[in-house]
Amino acid sequence: MNNADSLSASDDGPIIVAGDADLPAYTAAGHGMMSCHHCGTVWQEVRDHEDCQRCGTPLHMRKPHSIMRSWAFLIAACIMYIPANLMPVMVTKTLLGTQQDTIMSGVIYFWVSGSWELAAIIFIASFLVPLFKLASLILLTLTAQKRSRWRRLQRAKLYRLVEIIGRWSMLDVFVVSLLAGLVQIEGFAKITAGFGVLAFASVVVLTMLAALSFDPRLTWDSNDTEPTANQSKRLLRN
Ligand SMILES: [Zn+2]
Repeated sequence: MNNADSLSASDDGPIIVAGDADLPAYTAAGHGMMSCHHCGTVWQEVRDHEDCQRCGTPLHMRKPHSIMRSWAFLIAACIMYIPANLMPVMVTKTLLGTQQDTIMSGVIYFWVSGSWELAAIIFIASFLVPLFKLASLILLTLTAQKRSRWRRLQRAKLYRLVEIIGRWSMLDVFVVSLLAGLVQIEGFAKITAGFGVLAFASVVVLTMLAALSFDPRLTWDSNDTEPTANQSKRLLRN
C-alpha cells in the first residue's frame, strides 16, 4: 500500500510553499504515515516497530531515541575536543631533540615559516570545521528537543551542510600523515603521530555518529502545528 500519492493528489490539502518557513508544515507523521528507512515505501495505519511488508525492516515514525543518542555522541565529542587540541598531534624527532606539536602550535609554526596556505588548511580543517560541526549539531538537537519553530528552513539547510562537510572531516588526519611522509622521505626527522591525533579522530567519528543519529525530520515536528490524526484525515478528505 503506497499512500505517497494520496497527499499530492489531494487538491485541497495543505500546500507548503518552498522557502516559506512560517506556514504550518504538515508532516507525514502527522497524517499517521510512516516511511521505511530501507526501501522508502510509505505505509499508513501501521504501528511503530512493525515490519515493512515489502522488505521486512522495522518501521519507525522517527529514528528511535534520536535526541538521546545525539546528545550522548555530542557530549563525548565535546569532551574529546579538549585533548584533541591540547595533546600533541605531531612528535618530531631530530638530532637536536624531540618536539611535540599541538594543532595550534603546528598552525603557528607553518604560519611563521611562511607556509601560510598549509597553516590555513590545518586551522580550518582541524579547528574551525569540528567546532562548527559541534556547535551546529548542538543547536539542531537542542531546537529539535524543544520542538522549536525557530528558522526551520535554515536549520534543515544547516543539517545538510553538516552532512556535506562531514565527508571532508578526515582531511586533517590526511594532512598530518602526508606531512609525516614528506619529512621522512627527506630524511631530516622522524615524525610520529601523537595522542592528539587519536583524540581528534574520535571527535570526527563521534560528530559523524551524532549527525547520523539525528533525525532531520524532527526539525519539522512542533507542538502547535502538528495536526492530530483525526484532523489530518479530515484534511485529506476535504
Ligand atoms: Zn521497506
